[in-house]
Amino acid sequence: MNTEIPSHGQPIDRFAAAISGEVYESVHSSSAIKSDKRQALLAGDYPNPKHLREIAGQIKQHTLESLDKYLPQAVESLERNGVRVHFAANGEEARQIIGSLLAARGAKKVVKSKSMATEEIHLNDYLAANGVDCIETDLGEFIVQIDGDHPSHIVTPIIHKNRRQIAKSFEKHGLGAYNDDPETITRRARKFMRDKYMSADAGITGANFVVAETGRLVLVTNEGNSRFSLAAPKLHIALVGIEKLVPSDRDLSVFLNLLVRSATGQQFTAYTEFISGPHASGQPSGPEEMHVVFLDNGRSDILAGDCREILRCIRCGACLNICPVYRQASGHAYRSVYPGPIGAVLSPLLAGEKFPSLADLPKASSLCGACNDACPVNIPIPDLLLRLRDKGKREHAPLASRGVPPMGGFAGLASQPALWKGALLAGHVMNYFPVEWVPVPPLSKWTAQRTLPEFRGGEFRKWWKQRRQR
Ligand code: SF4
Repeated sequence: MNTEIPSHGQPIDRFAAAISGEVYESVHSSSAIKSDKRQALLAGDYPNPKHLREIAGQIKQHTLESLDKYLPQAVESLERNGVRVHFAANGEEARQIIGSLLAARGAKKVVKSKSMATEEIHLNDYLAANGVDCIETDLGEFIVQIDGDHPSHIVTPIIHKNRRQIAKSFEKHGLGAYNDDPETITRRARKFMRDKYMSADAGITGANFVVAETGRLVLVTNEGNSRFSLAAPKLHIALVGIEKLVPSDRDLSVFLNLLVRSATGQQFTAYTEFISGPHASGQPSGPEEMHVVFLDNGRSDILAGDCREILRCIRCGACLNICPVYRQASGHAYRSVYPGPIGAVLSPLLAGEKFPSLADLPKASSLCGACNDACPVNIPIPDLLLRLRDKGKREHAPLASRGVPPMGGFAGLASQPALWKGALLAGHVMNYFPVEWVPVPPLSKWTAQRTLPEFRGGEFRKWWKQRRQR
């Protein structure tokens, strides 16, 4: 499955060099604030947060390695609760299952709460193409949707926008005259959504966790939009990656404590929903029919490979917030639904046969290790990045080794003073041309993947000459 978003076709460093000051400021300041809050909160609330991360990582790793036990157990528990369970091997199957469930009920109006799995399978495009009106109810995702944009962060999809840009979007889409007061923006969105909730035929969600023992779905939001998405519609469909399982309700205490602190630097989110099935008699509201679609989409292959630890991910976004590359480049630079360090590992793996098109992502890291330190489930992200770089080199040698300058040629150049001087001069001349100008292979292939700094060669010779004249 290809998780790529319509691409700007640029390598990360070149995209980063071209982002506007406004985008840079929004991404950098917002991610830095969240990261600082996360660190302070974890250190203040727990005597040994590192130990908690290790426990969380062990629980997830154990669940993944025993998926053959926990997945059937989850299916049994869900069905016992009155939920119908489906399996989708890939995005195409998932879209078709969801499409037929909606068609069977004649559902044409859908409210959707934020879900990375639905982003991964490009569900909105599919629904729109099939005449289904699907509204995103998370405020950030809603703004992305009306703007025809793409999320640039897995928790805060519009981290790249500031309130002035949002106010302009609202004005452009008929949601009120320009007003960049956050409360006004929120009130307007809420007013718009209310009607949509009440008239929706179906609610689509993801799930942060699915408990194998009890069949409970857990949804964590700050806006309560998932609750509204399930209150009025008669049909609830949850699309869930198979890696979202945890063994028991007891394990949730570890993950809920870590997830929220790691994602937004809060002690608890405003809304945590525990869903145990469709509307039961005596309940005031809730869907009559509930379906869970378990999504594989390359996860089994990842589980069988040597980067399986990435499936522990609970999508908190802490690795994005702390990553120096993400802060400089922004999420869209990663050309994929999953940006930042998690995306640099997960996106090429999910791409399967299309791995080469995202093989540059694992190289977009200084390997500083900050992502591993921040990760609440202790994923060794730098190790996985190295394994993927190695995979790129071994399995896709022509791409990975693109244009590595032949060292023999360099030696010949460096040992001939006249040639060397000529090369230095050519380097200075090249500063006056865009890097794409280099027309000659293999250099053209090399520069297609990289941004060259300004050439400043010859400084040593100048310095040496001056030194000798003293
Ligand atoms: S890899 Fe770790 S830090 Fe990054 S989003 Fe996943 S759980 Fe959070």
